[in-house]
Amino acid sequence: MNKNQQQNQYFVDLHVHIGRDNNDLPVKITASRKLTFANIAKECLNRKGIDIVGIVDCASPRVIEDIGTLMRSGEMRELKDGGLRYRDTVTVILESEIETREKNGRLSHQIAFFPYFADIREFSKKMKGVVTNLNLSSQNSGITAQEFFNIVNGLGGIVIPAHIFTPHKSVYGSCVAHLNEMFTPATIKKIPAVELGLSADTFLADHLEDLGDFTFLTNSDAHSLPKIAREYNVISMEEPTFKELLMALRRESDRRVITNYGLDPKLGKYHRTYCEECNNMASGFPPVFQCEKCGSKKVTRGVLDRIIEISDGRDTISPAHRPPYCHQVALDFVPGVGKKTLDKLFGYFGTEMNILHKASYQEISQVVGFKIAKDIIAAREGKLSLLAGGGGKYGRVDRESEDNKVFDSLF
Ligand SMILES: [Zn+2]
Ligand SMILES: [Zn+2]
Repeated sequence: MNKNQQQNQYFVDLHVHIGRDNNDLPVKITASRKLTFANIAKECLNRKGIDIVGIVDCASPRVIEDIGTLMRSGEMRELKDGGLRYRDTVTVILESEIETREKNGRLSHQIAFFPYFADIREFSKKMKGVVTNLNLSSQNSGITAQEFFNIVNGLGGIVIPAHIFTPHKSVYGSCVAHLNEMFTPATIKKIPAVELGLSADTFLADHLEDLGDFTFLTNSDAHSLPKIAREYNVISMEEPTFKELLMALRRESDRRVITNYGLDPKLGKYHRTYCEECNNMASGFPPVFQCEKCGSKKVTRGVLDRIIEISDGRDTISPAHRPPYCHQVALDFVPGVGKKTLDKLFGYFGTEMNILHKASYQEISQVVGFKIAKDIIAAREGKLSLLAGGGGKYGRVDRESEDNKVFDSLF
């Protein structure tokens, strides 16, 4: 047996927000009230089949208090190699997403990952001085990304740039064309991975020569329970701990991300350039910088448009270490799948992973009927025609498309 076969595969989503603390006080105002620490762990365990979840609001003093309570009650315990185990099932990684500001005023989101509870408490204390209200999620710190890295690195944590192409607040989306304009070469070596964000995938990101050495992460950035694991990573490692996770991101001793699962980038909220004047979504050859319809330059630039803009005309070339990227249409994008249908599906198949990737057409149709079964299978096979998202609006399944009608007639 080779070394690889001794390792286990884990389902991992490293970007989930907390909505409320246990006293129902807000942590992320735009996030769902049900998104508490304990509910996230339960959702991962019971519905999503997620083994490791990264919670990005752990530096909030309210969340720190909740974690302390869960640890004292014995529901959660700290692992020797880092990470917290909830009821001996789901591993929680302690993270903090912070907004940084470059000297020219440009903003980006960065995520700090810490192995131990004491580290994130220390980090939280340090950030109190630079963030206005640390209780709330993704707050502006006023420090640069490099300064943020220095703080996190000094406390034994790692930094991963979040949703790197998103307009307004991300490294490539709103700050720079190359990472070395933001971070020193020594820092770049210590950043093991980048998060692609919902509107990009490996195929698009590998247009950038800059990214060849980085591991790609596909995380949900969930603000509500159903959205957990709409993107996730399958990681091969020995144990679900912080130490093993870091080895996997660095691709050490056979630990690695073996598949990225993510939405078709068209379904993301910022895939194409969007006109803020006349609401037109760009459809022409990227990059589109101004509205194709009314000519306005008041646009929200699309992720696709931005990547092509800064790719220097390079084709997409994936390095040898790059794992396959598997597109998935999360269940809440499938037309006609509401709460009732979801409950039926979960009741029968257990987890979203089973429904999206394993259950057969016959099985699904017996539970929720032919029409929805057909759409779930079509989504799995990449056969649904999609309309691109942009300007903060998700993409969607194109019900009017001739392709989808042809597909309809096959059943
Ligand atoms: Zn963010
Ligand atoms: Zn326009």
